[in-house]
Amino acid sequence: MDAKKGRYGVTAPNVMDSITVEAAFKVADKLKAPMIIDRGGQGEVLEAGADFVAFYAKKYPNVVATLNLDHGGPFEAIMLAIRCGFNSVMIDRSTLPFEENVKEVAEVVKVAHALGVSVEAELGHVGQGVEYEQTRDSGLTNPDEAVEYVKRTGVDCLAVSIGTSHGVYKGTPYLDFPLLEKLVSLVDIPLVLHGGSGTGDDNLQKAVENGIQKVNLATDLVTEGGKYLKDYISKDGVDIRYPACAKVLMDGYAAKLSHYVELFHAVGKAAK
Ligand SMILES: [Zn+2]
Repeated sequence: MDAKKGRYGVTAPNVMDSITVEAAFKVADKLKAPMIIDRGGQGEVLEAGADFVAFYAKKYPNVVATLNLDHGGPFEAIMLAIRCGFNSVMIDRSTLPFEENVKEVAEVVKVAHALGVSVEAELGHVGQGVEYEQTRDSGLTNPDEAVEYVKRTGVDCLAVSIGTSHGVYKGTPYLDFPLLEKLVSLVDIPLVLHGGSGTGDDNLQKAVENGIQKVNLATDLVTEGGKYLKDYISKDGVDIRYPACAKVLMDGYAAKLSHYVELFHAVGKAAK
């Protein structure tokens, strides 16, 4: 992966609908930045996500984008995502014991690789921000286990837990940079950071500069969209019908995403 050599990070925005997919493509196109579009869920949600991405991929032919299943659940949902056109799948078995995590992930890797689809998996556990103070330490990735895990599963990139959390943090996030350094020195596949939102610009940029190649973002992007909308509708005489408001939401989401592309030194890094 180019990001590993270039010391930059690829933004992985979580998309929810056609508006957020369009925002991701617009930012990628404007900043010539590679983009990993993260979509979670099951069933129709995956089918629709793949259709939105295919639509905008045609509209923005110069954009380098990968569609990745985020936190892939049951085996069937992972297979559906691949059938719908996802070219990458993340399998989260991080709450299972090590051996079971290895077994389930290796099974998906075998099928996915046969179909040319790359696989991300998680070792250690990135928890939820509301329980950050209770779970932060217990979930950290063990470096020796990480080496064994990568070797036995054959995954293409590894989501590690170095002190981030999903959603809004309760407490102040603090990252374990010595642990990241150790993981980088031992594991030679790209490393992924989940729970980018709320982690702070300094922490995230430092993580990227020290070996994280993909940063997942959700809460910060949609919150910024909401802020833009709140500000917009508080003004007198503006058009508050759906299309106008949707455009404002998209602008907020895109502005925050652009900020992270720049923070991770990814501007101009897309080569097609
Ligand atoms: Zn995650």
